[in-house]
Order: sequence, then C-alpha cells, then structure tokens
Amino acid sequence: MEIRYKSTCSDREPVLASQAILKGISEDGGLFVPERIPKLVCPLRELAGMDYRQVAYEVMRLYFSDFTEEELKACIAGAYDDKFDTEAIAPLAKVEGVYFLELFHGPTIAFKDMALSILPYLMTTAMKKNGGGQEAVILTATSGDTGKAALSGFADVPGTRIIVFYPKDGVSAIQKRQMLTQKGENVAVVGVEGNFDDCQNGVKAIFGDVALREEMARAGLAFSSANSINIGRLVPQIAYYVYAYASLLREGEIAEGEEINIAVPTGNFGNILAAYYARKMGLPVKKLLCASNENKVLYDFFATGSYDRNRPFILTSSPSMDILISSNLERLIYEITGYDAQATADFMQSLAGNGNYAITREMKKRLEPFYGGFATQKEGAAQIAGVFERCGYVMDTHTAVAAAVAADYREKTGDAAKMLVVSTASPYKFAPSILRALKPGCAAGDEEKEAFACVDELARLSGMKIPAAVEELREAAICHHRLCPVEGMEAQVRDILEL
Ligand SMILES: *Cc1c(COP(=O)(O)O)cnc(C)c1O
Repeated sequence: MEIRYKSTCSDREPVLASQAILKGISEDGGLFVPERIPKLVCPLRELAGMDYRQVAYEVMRLYFSDFTEEELKACIAGAYDDKFDTEAIAPLAKVEGVYFLELFHGPTIAFKDMALSILPYLMTTAMKKNGGGQEAVILTATSGDTGKAALSGFADVPGTRIIVFYPKDGVSAIQKRQMLTQKGENVAVVGVEGNFDDCQNGVKAIFGDVALREEMARAGLAFSSANSINIGRLVPQIAYYVYAYASLLREGEIAEGEEINIAVPTGNFGNILAAYYARKMGLPVKKLLCASNENKVLYDFFATGSYDRNRPFILTSSPSMDILISSNLERLIYEITGYDAQATADFMQSLAGNGNYAITREMKKRLEPFYGGFATQKEGAAQIAGVFERCGYVMDTHTAVAAAVAADYREKTGDAAKMLVVSTASPYKFAPSILRALKPGCAAGDEEKEAFACVDELARLSGMKIPAAVEELREAAICHHRLCPVEGMEAQVRDILEL
C-alpha cells in the first residue's frame, strides 16, 4: 500500500516518499510525516533470522513505497557495506545486564552514519525518479556529528553539493578536525559564530526564503536537507531498533513479544522519534526513556507539558546534545494533537515567537510511552568511570547520559524490563572528556594536540583499538576556513553557489 507524506503545518496535498526526501522540508515550513505509520508485516521471529540489510529492507519498504524493490535494495547494499567495521553493522554489547546498541561502527564513528550512509543513495535515486535535471544542494546544520557524516556521505556524489554549518566553539576538537579535513569537489564547511540552535534556525530561514529558492531554480539548483527533519534520515533510523529487538530474540535474551525499554541520548529528538515509530509499528517496546544533558528542555517538557527554550544554552561534554530547539518534537506534537496541522502550526509559531508553548492535558496524556530524564556532566562522568572500573567497558559521554538515566529509572520505578541503551558515538570522538571521567584531576584541555594525546592515553587505558577514522585525522590537511556571523549564513550560501 502506498504511503504518502503530509506536512505537520498545513493540509496541502501529500507527496510521495521520493519527493519528500528531495524537498527535505515542506514549503509551508512544516515537516513531512507519513500519512499513517505502517505496521511491521514480517513476523519478529523471521526478522531474527535476517542480517542488517534484510531487516532494513523490511522496514524501509513500508515507508518508501514509491521506490521499487530493486532501487531500495541497491540503496541499502551501497550504504551498509564494509564502510562499517563490523558485519553486524549495529552490534549489541551486554554490560551489567544492560544492552548497549552500538551505532558507531560506521565511517565517522557516530550514529549519524546509520542514516547518512544511505541518504545520498536515496536522494540520487529520488532525483532520477522525479525527472532529474536539477542539482541538489544539501544544507546542513550540525551539532558536531551530522556534519561529518553528511560530508562523508555526499562527498563527490554526482548531482549534489553540500554545505555544512557548525557552531564554531560548540563541537569537540576531533569533530571539528573531522569536518575541516573533508575532501571533495562539492563540499563546503562554515563555522558560525553562534550555537547549534542559531545554525539550525539560520538554515531553516534560508529554506524559507522564497526569492532565493526562485533564484536557485533559475540556476538549476534545489535545496534539500541532511538533518533529521528529512524523512530520508528518520526512516533508516527505525531499522536499527527492529534489528536490535530481532538480535535479542535471536540470541535468546528475550522471548517473542517480550516488551523492552529503550533509553536514548537525545538532542534534536530524531533518534528517539524513530524508536517511537518502531513502537507504533508494533515493536514490543514499553517505555522510551528520553535522556537529556543539562540542556534539559525535553525533561521539563515531559514533566510539565510546557516547552520553554528561554534559558541559558549550556556547553557540555555531550556537545551533540547541546540543543534547546529539538526540531523533531514537532512530529510528535502533530501526533498528539490528533493530526491537527493548524494546532501544530500554532504551537510552532509560539515557539518561534515567544520561545515557548504549553500543550493541553489531553495531549499530555498521549505522551504516556515516554519517560523524561536527565543527567548532569558529573553524573555522566560517574557512569563512565563506574562501568569501566567494574567491567572494562568504555562508553562515550552521550551514551553515558542515557545509561545514567536508565539506571536511575530502574531504581526509581523498579521496572525490571530488559533495557536497551542506545550508544551513539565512539568514546574516541570525545577522548578528553572520557579521560577526565576515568582519571579525575587529569587536566586534559580541549585543544587539538591534547585531544590526540588523550586518544593515545585512552587506548593505553582501555586496550580498545583506535578507529581508522581518528588515526587518519592526525596528518590530514585542513581544507576549509570559512567563518561567519549568524546573520552571514545566507551570504555564505550565495558565495559558495556563486549566485
Ligand atoms: C546527534 C547525536 C545525538 C542526538 O540525537 P538526536 O537524534 O538529535 O536526538 C546523541 N548523541 C550523539 C553522539 C549524536 O551525534
């Protein structure tokens, strides 16, 4: 059955999956959502016998219904190959009775690879299906990990260009170096004198600029997005939740139909929204634990029903979660209004204008599958150190936020259901922070030299192999030098595209 995509903010005509992927965001500024969430067709016990690519196909075919079997299988085969350093693609590690779903085995060692390794294939296929002709310009705001994963995915992909905006002082030294050393004829990287929300708002404003869009069209160019506002990023993320459940079943860790809990370190609300979609598809999931760092706007939202970004923006040791405007929450808001585009548009307008909104009691009731929690940097560090001391397993700073929230949840509620903790990055990406957690008093700074010294020290301490993605950064040449103020983002785009 065909699934089309409609905007969260108006009742304009729905579009096909391939068109939603190409556009990235609806012209009315809303996000594309599937008209309905499909149910898993393939029985779980059958999925348990499949490899990652097969499970990914069984999930994505339900959403990308205008792709042929051959097209979609080619996209999947191109994405999930030996770019990943493990056959399993998304392996599980059982540590103290908790299952860590390791999503950092791709080329840029963070979970963004799970979707951004396939998005370029989906997009070029979608371009062919829709007549081609135009060049796609991928505009991306990054809190650190999306940028590199998108650059790596789109570098030198014919028919595409990519521009990444990152907060100049808001990413780790390794993250910055990863982006600034990216090669490719079609890539540009710009540091913004602002935080991630500034970058994301700036990109959204450029998308919404009708005059610019028309000018682009005359030059044969069309914008799209590699952020998780693009449905082409969200859907591939559903696959690994289904795969994780199937893996637990295959390993005999759970019985068929047994409900599990899932803890997700959350920033832009994309990863956890994919888990919510998986649950709606029929995956046996009890609670979704939304774990925030000290920028705990989501924790407050789940506690009070009121979303308020009017607060200081805190730079933490989990920079990819330093976000006050979680853009994918809009899709959940749309669901809990009972698919009311006007109401959703009103909430989002209030967010853009006053920086806040409060949902109704009726809507709040529908948030029942979620549990909001947060962990401070100190609690995260204690989690990293405690688990390492007891079992020798090292987790990154983002994963630690979810692990701390999961532990706290179990203690507070006594809920003993099996717990999946989503592990979103390799500890090597944040080596100085990890080292500070493992060796309090160790005065590692965040300077680049220090970062690599910490990488080596972490390798000595943990015995974990240093990923190739980190090794190759040591000598790589910096090839991007652009910086701009928040108001200068559009000018950068014009300059890069020679408009
Ligand atoms: C992007 C990211 C997150 C947050 O994921 P969202 O989908 O934005 O909620 C968490 N951890 C890491 C390492 C990330 O890169």
